[in-house]
Amino acid sequence: MKIAKAKFITSAAGEEGFLTSPAFQFAVVGRSNVGKSSFINYITGNAGLAKTSKQPGRTRLVNYFDINDGEFILVDLPGYGYAEVSDDVKRKWGVLMDKYLSGSPQLAHVFVLVDVRHKPTDLDRQMINYLNYYGKSYTIVATKGDKLSRAQINRQLPVIAAGCGTGIDNIIVTSALSKVGKEKIFERIEQILTNLQ
Ligand code: GDP
Repeated sequence: MKIAKAKFITSAAGEEGFLTSPAFQFAVVGRSNVGKSSFINYITGNAGLAKTSKQPGRTRLVNYFDINDGEFILVDLPGYGYAEVSDDVKRKWGVLMDKYLSGSPQLAHVFVLVDVRHKPTDLDRQMINYLNYYGKSYTIVATKGDKLSRAQINRQLPVIAAGCGTGIDNIIVTSALSKVGKEKIFERIEQILTNLQ
């Protein structure tokens, strides 16, 4: 598969706004600044789809995008790990994630973004624990692949895999800047959609 068409459908600030259409959902999540907006814009080929400048204090939203006129839905989940946000905002993020993960039966898969240069953080692990708890399958996407050499990436992959409690084959290295990794993401989506049929 490839993404030929992507368009914004709606945003939800809470469960009452969650999309209930029958199309399968593929969600994208990661800590703030990991490159989530750039990743979404890169894989959809739409530079303006996810906004790349966001203010940490803003209400966190679940954003839904229609892919290829109903083939599936891409879901931009609110980022985590903003240093400046209050405990109240963090709590609300947790509630929203719980509600989304438990209340989205059409959620087929989650792409968890981590920076290829860094060991996964406690919050990344917490995110993966949520996914395990709700029985949701996921792929780790190591972003900003252009920042390291091939040899450095090969050294980083076991570190990321161990930090996430997963295997190296569950990591896809991408770069929105050098436009790397999109085909592997599409292969993954296709494989999952095929398995669900
Ligand atoms: P978000 O907060 O997770 O949505 O992250 P953004 O997509 O806004 O990106 C955060 C910063 O990382 C921005 O300065 C981007 O230009 C930069 N960035 C994102 N993706 C890449 C990438 O693939 N390579 C490099 N070198 N920088 C990137």
